[in-house]
Amino acid sequence: MSKLENKVAIVTGASKGIGASIAKYFAAEGAKVVVNYASSKEGADKIVKEITNLGGTAISIQADVSNEADVIRLFEETKTAFGKLDILVNNAGIYQYAPIEQVSVESVHQHFNINVLGSILAIREALKLFGDKGGNIINISSGASNTPLPTGSVYSATKAALDAITIALSKEFSGRNIRINSILPGVVETEGSHSAGFIGSDFEAKLVATTPLGRTGQPEDIAKVVFLASDDAGWITGEKISVSGGIYGI
Ligand code: NAP
Repeated sequence: MSKLENKVAIVTGASKGIGASIAKYFAAEGAKVVVNYASSKEGADKIVKEITNLGGTAISIQADVSNEADVIRLFEETKTAFGKLDILVNNAGIYQYAPIEQVSVESVHQHFNINVLGSILAIREALKLFGDKGGNIINISSGASNTPLPTGSVYSATKAALDAITIALSKEFSGRNIRINSILPGVVETEGSHSAGFIGSDFEAKLVATTPLGRTGQPEDIAKVVFLASDDAGWITGEKISVSGGIYGI
């Protein structure tokens, strides 16, 4: 039997990049998947089509995770479509690196609203659908949480906050059969990391040179941690798990 048979999962920010890969891996393991997106309907529908073409089950739902009404609707529509929820992956996130002198109030609010508030809102709504049976939450953090880099103060702060939420909630959920973990990716080649100018830069070359496994990550490297959402990880909660080719090993 596949690892996620009969499970229902929401993956936020799954129209591209790491989220899209996680959605596809979950579906391949038998989960019914909600492919959430903010504005890229075309991208999300393409992922849904890739999943259904392989015999899986998926739908796309638009919702800006930083908007409370949108998040409430995302979970209501999931309930209408699939009747329940077992797994939430908080993957939607933004990352803009800038020297502190250039950091604007708007940018700080945007990073925290999407990366932190968005995850909190989604977890709050997920709990209602998990019900008494419990559930599973994976927060996509970053190696930048444990190893902040110059010009990344705001982004690193959001991911350190997300990790703190993971640890606090793993204890708060005691006795409720809800596991919650953070995955901390290293640099992964995605649309986002291309737009941010990481891929092909001197920065990437330096990172690769000091990465024990000697390469930049691909979205599938993160998605393969799918086992965390399955019963195989039944005794793992409150952990920060680096998936970074060794560079961000804790
Ligand atoms: P990406 O290629 O830029 O894709 C971002 C995804 O998030 C898109 O699906 C986007 O949807 C969605 N999104 C953005 N804002 C949203 C919002 N307000 N509400 C709902 N969805 C929203 O990003 P990525 O590189 O795959 O990164 C995914 C996650 O991994 C992020 O949390 C990031 O911090 C983390 N991470 C990435 C790397 C890396 O090197 N790539 C490393 C460590 C951690 P639309 O397309 O509709 O806008």
